[in-house]
Amino acid sequence: PALIRKKRDGEQLEEEEIQSFVRGVTEGTAQQGQIGAMLMAIRLRGMDAAETLALTRAMAASGRSLAWPPAWRGLLVDKHSTGGVGDKVSLALAPALAACGCKVPMISGRGLGHTGGTLDKLEAIPGFCVSQSPEQIQSILERVGCCIVGQSEELAPADRVLYSLRDVTATVDSLPLITASILSKKAAEQLSALVLDVKFGSAALYPTQESARELAHSLVAVGEQLGIRTAAVLSRMDEPLGRCVGNSLEVLEALECLEGGGPPDLRELVVALG
Ligand code: URA
Repeated sequence: PALIRKKRDGEQLEEEEIQSFVRGVTEGTAQQGQIGAMLMAIRLRGMDAAETLALTRAMAASGRSLAWPPAWRGLLVDKHSTGGVGDKVSLALAPALAACGCKVPMISGRGLGHTGGTLDKLEAIPGFCVSQSPEQIQSILERVGCCIVGQSEELAPADRVLYSLRDVTATVDSLPLITASILSKKAAEQLSALVLDVKFGSAALYPTQESARELAHSLVAVGEQLGIRTAAVLSRMDEPLGRCVGNSLEVLEALECLEGGGPPDLRELVVALG
């Protein structure tokens, strides 16, 4: 309660206090109501750059870090979107990057607010399993070069809890919470380079280009401080990307894109981010 009160009253949290909050989330000692209250306090009061970095680090450290063979050095890349309607870019881009010789250990998310989730889309494929151990991820990367999985008890577990609570507490559109959510997953992946698709418009989490630019700056600054070469692309999202919205339809549209077809706006974004 003391930490919630501190943030509620607009004070800055110390690194150890943020670590203690994230420990409570991960170990299950914090009650759901307390976590929801802290999320709302952060959503309303914000976090400065030091707090945002501390939250990201604490969330990344809540689970295991993936480790890779030395031969993959410089090849480990990933992309993450801040979310939008009809955004199926990851489904096409991850295998496209793998075809170029990259290794893509993508930890993705489910639907958040009104935006769709890559994991939900993949689960439209009968039998597809988004839950893989670090060992299984490495074996998949050896064989196919890319893998799209969810947060788990082992990988970014704090984000798993916070992500689903943000979805039901109107705390999705928070700059520090988005930054920490995305980058805690990417830090766990031990990447060489990361590209972020920061969307703005009525079908995205942030409506204006200015707010998206601020989010992009936060994401790039924290990414670089985590030692990941990070770039961001601002992309407009006033209408769904491509022609299809809905999990199975979006998988089919991503397959069309991989086969050289698909709608031009989807192809353009996949190529630009790639
Ligand atoms: N994607 C994430 O993983 N987290 C967010 O908060 C937004 C988009």
